[in-house]
Amino acid sequence: MKTSLILFLAFLFVETPTIDKDKNRWKPYYTDLAPAKTADSWFLPFKSIDRKKIANIKIISIFGDHRDSYYKGHIHTAIDINPSISKTKLIEVYAMANGVVCSIHLGENQKTVVVKHRLKNGTIMFTSYKHLSEVYVSNGQTVNQDTKLARLFTKEESKKYGGDYHHLHLEIRKKFDDYGCASWLTMNKTQLDDRFYNPQAFLRTYLK
Ligand SMILES: [Zn+2]
Repeated sequence: MKTSLILFLAFLFVETPTIDKDKNRWKPYYTDLAPAKTADSWFLPFKSIDRKKIANIKIISIFGDHRDSYYKGHIHTAIDINPSISKTKLIEVYAMANGVVCSIHLGENQKTVVVKHRLKNGTIMFTSYKHLSEVYVSNGQTVNQDTKLARLFTKEESKKYGGDYHHLHLEIRKKFDDYGCASWLTMNKTQLDDRFYNPQAFLRTYLK
């Protein structure tokens, strides 16, 4: 058989991952609990003098960017951020508002904490924090803006994974029906708008 034919047949049998095919793999990490308090007031996920001031974060990568990392061709579902100024080497990540931890999934350099929130108008939504080094909360835990969720990798620790992981990948989600895999399997604008808010637009509205 010609090599090209073998490659073509191999291609047919290699399953392309999709959100629908992959989501059940991540469901066991999800806890279905209602947030006890509404998320009335929102804050940046890092400690600073003013956690309401958007200038206190530095945006490294924007929402909707095309990516070839992790899963080739996916769309960036988050903003990648760091504090604008940091006095310490270890950067702590805080919950952005009242909520409940509903998923802790993945490991190593992709470790992720997801918090479920209920807005004043009753809307359920989620914040997702990825590339965490140490996690300090557990599934089902009630959190508020003073709850330290985790810390980020230092630049040195990030090198261990051969990449640039010393930042927070912050998603603001409309849904979590994919149990997390839409973070790397979102391939088009329709899927992006279905599950994710633009974090910059969200912050501009809700930090007030
Ligand atoms: Zn990212």
